[in-house]
Amino acid sequence: MTISVIIPFYNERLQIPLTLDSVSAVLEETGETFEILAIDDGSEDESVEVMIEEAKSRPYLRVLSLSRNFGKEAALCAGLDEAKGDAVIVMDGDLQHPPSYIPEMIRLWREGYMVVEGVKSFRGKESRFSKGKANFFYKLFARFSGYNLTNASDFKLLDRQVVDEWTKLRERDTFFRALSAWLGFKRTTFPFEVAERTTGDSKWGGLKLIKLSINAITSFSARPIYAIAMVGMILLLLFFILGIQTLVTYFLGRSIVGFTTVILLQLLIGGGTLFSLGLIGIYIGRIFDEVKDRPRYIISYDSQAESKDTGG
Ligand code: UDP
Ligand code: MG
Repeated sequence: MTISVIIPFYNERLQIPLTLDSVSAVLEETGETFEILAIDDGSEDESVEVMIEEAKSRPYLRVLSLSRNFGKEAALCAGLDEAKGDAVIVMDGDLQHPPSYIPEMIRLWREGYMVVEGVKSFRGKESRFSKGKANFFYKLFARFSGYNLTNASDFKLLDRQVVDEWTKLRERDTFFRALSAWLGFKRTTFPFEVAERTTGDSKWGGLKLIKLSINAITSFSARPIYAIAMVGMILLLLFFILGIQTLVTYFLGRSIVGFTTVILLQLLIGGGTLFSLGLIGIYIGRIFDEVKDRPRYIISYDSQAESKDTGG
């Protein structure tokens, strides 16, 4: 039985050796055969060079480098496609997912669980604002999709069979956390404390998070479209009531009073239309993205391909 560990890195030059050291130490102690797939997500610093250097002294390390920054989701997809293990563990490269939980994950897998998921029992030293943001997002996501992901994380172990099903999913924009729940299978969770980052900063800017949230919700639910229909119905009802009122004042010869109503209606309908158009646009944009059927990522370097293929 082989364990694969997938770790995405984006501009983590200083962090890479530390992470590889502690992950490999834990894995060696378990006595399992293992491989580590370090995925460089198009880093702009010397992350790839550091990885390749590390691979020289670590035969279990495979380095994959994406041709540009495709985002963590794409990096995970690359890892899941390439991993060969009977169980595949996915974890962050900044040690915020403590490797010390790995033996426990493997134990649960050996007990027969196909998916072993880390649940954040302590979100680390996150700002109140950031916790609030995450909470708001998960509430929204649960309401729309029916999947409660509060405190869910990307720290997971998947059985080979689950990984094989994952790689069959055709959508381009993935949301690992939720899609792995959608896949089903016998699953269990374990609580873990998010460790603090020791080097570098979080790679998630506000804009990236907003994009991820919108993608996550629209890829899991068509409810916003139904909501548009509801809003439209309510607007029609308002139309009807205000229409009668306007006509009545018109026949009473006090039509100038209705000017306020006109303005209100303008605002309401204009706003409603624009909002709805925007929402529809998001869905059409997603269809556009999926229809193009582009690859999720492009690998520009693979440390294992090198020995076989010298043609470059
Ligand atoms: N990451 C990545 N591509 C990106 C952003 C992040 O591969 O575009 C990696 C990053 O190097 C780290 C993991 O994803 O290993 C989690 O990122 P980060 O720690 O910045 O996220 P946070 O812990 O703040 O959620
Ligand atoms: Mg982190």
